[in-house]
Amino acid sequence: MFETLGNKLQDILERLQREKTLTDAQVKVAMREIRMALLEADVNFGVAKEFVSRVSEKAVGQEVLGSLNAGQMVVKLVHDELIQTLGGESKQPTLKNEGNVVFMVGLQGAGKTTSTGKLAKFYKEKGRRVLLIAADTQRPAAREQLRTLGNQVGVPVLEVANGETPAQTRQRLNEFQQQDFRDLVIVDTAGRLQIDENLMTQLADLQAALQPTETLLVVDAMTGQEALSVAKTFDERVNLSGLIITKMDGDARGGAALSARFVTGKPIYFAGTSEKLTGLEPFYPDRVAGRILG
Ligand code: GDP
Repeated sequence: MFETLGNKLQDILERLQREKTLTDAQVKVAMREIRMALLEADVNFGVAKEFVSRVSEKAVGQEVLGSLNAGQMVVKLVHDELIQTLGGESKQPTLKNEGNVVFMVGLQGAGKTTSTGKLAKFYKEKGRRVLLIAADTQRPAAREQLRTLGNQVGVPVLEVANGETPAQTRQRLNEFQQQDFRDLVIVDTAGRLQIDENLMTQLADLQAALQPTETLLVVDAMTGQEALSVAKTFDERVNLSGLIITKMDGDARGGAALSARFVTGKPIYFAGTSEKLTGLEPFYPDRVAGRILG
């Protein structure tokens, strides 16, 4: 991911870097090229526009033009702006000592169940006592898949039965907690191939019953711009606290992943980087920016 974008941006910046002084016109040309490169990588139109306008404004505002290392200064501005677009400081879900419930939502196939297993492993290794709840009653194999992942990681899995009400699930969770206390509960919820009203109502009801402390949307980076409108709809209905972007190891152009933070206003907490349980990384905007710009 980001390969084509990285190559293009690196070319443009390398040329800029060689210029000791820059005219207004040269900056304009470079910004147009950067905007094109972003759009070709499927970066959201508004994000690309805002990106170059902020860099241009700073270039002028900081009196870069006419200074002795103008090229290098503009390169630095682009680098900094890329980090900001990706979210600035790296953010992680806020976990308390106990009483943490992480609600995983997303469309079918996004990688929700896989990411739930990965998160269980990630937090278990940090010393958390994790419980998984298999509440994806929509996709036939999802509960069995989560049971297998739970076994691999070594954490228990509470399975929601077909037709069980959210109140009953809450009750079963309370009973489980009395027997075998867990400080972090991660819930794999039902997905659909597309957003529909039934799904949203079902999610909102379960959310109301389980009172999650974090609601994370799992989005597939390979679905491009579509991922962004999905995120906006989910946020309206279940109030997201953050994003997990999966399949960052794929060959998507990466623009949607790059735009996700800006378009949704939600931090990207993790990136999925393989199908394996180990393929989950906390998302560091500065490292990703560094990878793109070489
Ligand atoms: P769900 O319907 O959202 O629960 O989706 P799954 O968790 O079953 O994942 C759908 C497919 O995507 C599976 O084949 C996963 O192995 C694959 N997958 C999930 N996350 C990643 C990832 O980060 N990278 C890659 N390459 N594949 C992934």
